[in-house]
Amino acid sequence: MPLSRDPLSPDSACRPRLVFSDLDGSLLDHHSYDWTPAKGWLERLSACGVPVIPVTSKTRSELIPLRQAMELQQTPFIAENGAIVGLPHAWCHARLDRDAGSDGLVIRTLGVDIGLIRQRLSVWRERLDASFSTMSEMTLEQVMELTGLTEPEARLARLREGSEPLIWEDEDAMLVRLREGLRGDGLRIVQGGRFWHVTGECDKGSAVGWLIERFESLRGHHPLTLALGDGPNDVAMLERVDQAVLIRGGHDLEVSPDQPALYRSKASGPAGWAEGLDHWWGPLATEGRDAHE
Ligand SMILES: [Mg+2]
Repeated sequence: MPLSRDPLSPDSACRPRLVFSDLDGSLLDHHSYDWTPAKGWLERLSACGVPVIPVTSKTRSELIPLRQAMELQQTPFIAENGAIVGLPHAWCHARLDRDAGSDGLVIRTLGVDIGLIRQRLSVWRERLDASFSTMSEMTLEQVMELTGLTEPEARLARLREGSEPLIWEDEDAMLVRLREGLRGDGLRIVQGGRFWHVTGECDKGSAVGWLIERFESLRGHHPLTLALGDGPNDVAMLERVDQAVLIRGGHDLEVSPDQPALYRSKASGPAGWAEGLDHWWGPLATEGRDAHE
């Protein structure tokens, strides 16, 4: 039985809400990086005071300008698949978070330092004789070609702090062996839309859980949580929340979260994102809004 599905209704004021969203292929179009179809919902959620929290494989450096363009400066973010969390002032704990940067953000690393990840990848490649190309080894042109990013954007994409993307060029059996090796190092490898990502013992789900706990400790309320994503690296996040939207992917990867409250969108990208919001929070909100106008 769903709780109040209307962000604008009087009863929903008792229960705060949080939206967690993947970017590439979800809130942003997989190819053009456009988010126009989601704009109406972003404005509406902002007007209702519901934070939309980006949860992405992108780096902090890539995310900061996007966050500004999408007017999400007041909300936290999760970068590099859960390795990095950025907290604006209102989400900081007065006692625990005193090291804000000049932009007012406190950055927390939930994962493993990038230097160690690169070192272990290089060790395992030699040991197993495995074939893969990490982003740090690619030329800027290769990164641009693979991602469709412009040169300045590709530069930001390479500024990693807690995860290393790679293109897999070997057999599935070899991937299993690499995964086992990395596990012994406290590292994991997860599949995104374009790349595989090597991170510490953290993922989008654990970072989302960390932020939900932070919210509860600061506000004293358990929020109603909704997450939207399209890739295998979104599964842990989709399983960690109350309601989830699996956005139709531009890929043919199998994505099956263990989540009873799951809606699969028909549209892909930001259109599927808006469709998911419509599904969970839309119809009643519209009725409620009309009734109040
Ligand atoms: Mg995605």
